[in-house]
Amino acid sequence: MIELQDVAVGYGGTELLAEMSLKLVPGSFHFLTGPSGAGKTTFLKLCYAELLPSSGFLGLYGQDARTMSRDDIAQMRQRIGVVHQDCQFLDHLSVAENVALPLTVAGKPIDGRELVELLSWVGLKAQMNALPPQLSGGERQRAALARAIIMSPEVIVADEPTGNLDWEMSLRLLNLLVELNKMGKTVVIATHDLNLIRQAKAQVSARVLRIANRRLQLAGADL
Ligand code: ADP
Ligand code: ADP
Repeated sequence: MIELQDVAVGYGGTELLAEMSLKLVPGSFHFLTGPSGAGKTTFLKLCYAELLPSSGFLGLYGQDARTMSRDDIAQMRQRIGVVHQDCQFLDHLSVAENVALPLTVAGKPIDGRELVELLSWVGLKAQMNALPPQLSGGERQRAALARAIIMSPEVIVADEPTGNLDWEMSLRLLNLLVELNKMGKTVVIATHDLNLIRQAKAQVSARVLRIANRRLQLAGADL
């Protein structure tokens, strides 16, 4: 579980977000909205301790993020899968190798059958030997999702995962995230796309957080 109590965060002494209190409980589904530059990426980075609070308490699985050792943080990161906005693939490795990279980095064995199963689930079995530059936008995002979940994390954090996708591809990605949530995973998605949020709310019980005036607010049910 990820817990914030009166958290403030910023860069180089400039406060960007403040007074944030929130619990992301297991199995919950959250959207995070707000104008560009409001701090959505910054908030997501707090969730996996890429950034630490300048004040307040950030608890990650019961541990105070500020007292976690490098090893603790590495262990915790295995429980939180991140879909970065720009995907960050290694272009000289195949799609399958990129998806399996977290296992490789962690020194864990790759089960070829499970890898193919995962690639099939995201609809990329036929592209598994392709190189990332050969993928379409939707395929890239689904590969990034596969890589984010290969370590079976409890939480999936996605930063504008449908930012560059058409509606059909956005829905396809959303459906995978909804399915993961139905399997019990906690999902946090930063997005501008209100249609995507409406679509999700028809399928799961999702909470919508909005960043406004440097604060985190719970958006109204009208959204
Ligand atoms: P959003 O995801 O909502 O667009 P970000 O969290 O990416 O917002 O950025 C919020 C603000 O913080 C922006 O003004 C951005 O330029 C600034 N910012 C983001 N990362 C850094 C950084 N590493 N150093 C300094 N400023 C940053
Ligand atoms: P977003 O679209 O979410 O605002 P950006 O494209 O602004 O994301 O930022 C991409 C990356 O660059 C992020 O990792 C962010 O932290 C970093 N970044 C953004 N603004 C700045 C800045 N002013 N100084 C340094 N790094 C920044």
